[in-house]
Amino acid sequence: MVAQVIDGKAFAAKVRGQVADQVAKLKEENGITPGLAVVLVGEDPASQVYVRSKGKMTVEVGMNSYEHKLDVETSEEDLLALIDKLNNDPAVHGILVQLPLPKHLNEDLVINSIDPAKDVDGFHISNVGLLGTGQKSMVPCTPLGCLMMLRDHHGSLSGLDAVVIGRSNIVGKPMAQLLLGDSCTVTIAHSRTKDLPDVVRRADIVVAAVGRPEMVPGDWIKEGATVIDVGINRIERDGKNKLVGDVDYASAAERAGAITPVPGGVGPMTIACLLANTLTACCRSNGLPEPEGLTA
Ligand code: NAD
Repeated sequence: MVAQVIDGKAFAAKVRGQVADQVAKLKEENGITPGLAVVLVGEDPASQVYVRSKGKMTVEVGMNSYEHKLDVETSEEDLLALIDKLNNDPAVHGILVQLPLPKHLNEDLVINSIDPAKDVDGFHISNVGLLGTGQKSMVPCTPLGCLMMLRDHHGSLSGLDAVVIGRSNIVGKPMAQLLLGDSCTVTIAHSRTKDLPDVVRRADIVVAAVGRPEMVPGDWIKEGATVIDVGINRIERDGKNKLVGDVDYASAAERAGAITPVPGGVGPMTIACLLANTLTACCRSNGLPEPEGLTA
């Protein structure tokens, strides 16, 4: 079997198009422009790239983008004061604090100081609890993007065996909750899992979120399974820098029914879902119906 390639770049462009249409409608019919505030502390090069492209795409879909770049030495008190200001600003519907934060700042404290209704990353403890209990919440962007691609490919996910490799708060755990919410039988595998190959071979859906280049070989994949590769790993091969996922793409594509490439799979969906979450937050805060197909 040669797998169907799930084109995350094209899918993300479609999602951003849907968001842009809804934003235009909100402006025209309700006079509201959704706004996303992104807070960056310090000068981590990867974070700077992410923040720049988030700002650019926010503007491209017609939303207002507010960037707050703070010095690496910023005190917790000053950061919390800024978040408090953004929590109370009616023009700001979504707040994202770019992680990781410098070591002297308490990440949990900072994230939990964001108004849960504006927490477009879905990391606030209230949103984690709401998701875990199957209630309406803000859902973390990367797993939301994976869910959208899986629903698009399968239609219903009900009854499918799903294995999520990785148990991080950002990807693995919320991914498992979302799959459970769509009635999959879910296994969360991690660094201490016994006989990982056997666990993965059971899966109709494999979501790999580990951060180890090409650690899942093709012969772990059940014939016809859907493989979602979240991993982004920079490696050097043949003297060139290359991005690869957590799955060995070439061998997995020979057995899978469908697979996301790296790059061009999950990656582009993450920012598209951030924009979708900002739109959702804006609609909810104004008592308007939520955008269809853009939430969990
Ligand atoms: P993390 O380091 O927080 O978690 C990794 C998880 O993998 C841990 O739960 C650990 O138990 C598990 N693990 C480690 N070694 C293992 C092994 N040998 N076998 C099985 N499980 C093992 O990472 P994260 O933040 O969840 O990110 C995972 C990957 O996804 C990284 O490559 C990251 O860059 C990528 N990522 C991509 C996006 C995107 O937008 N595409 C977003 C977030 C993360």
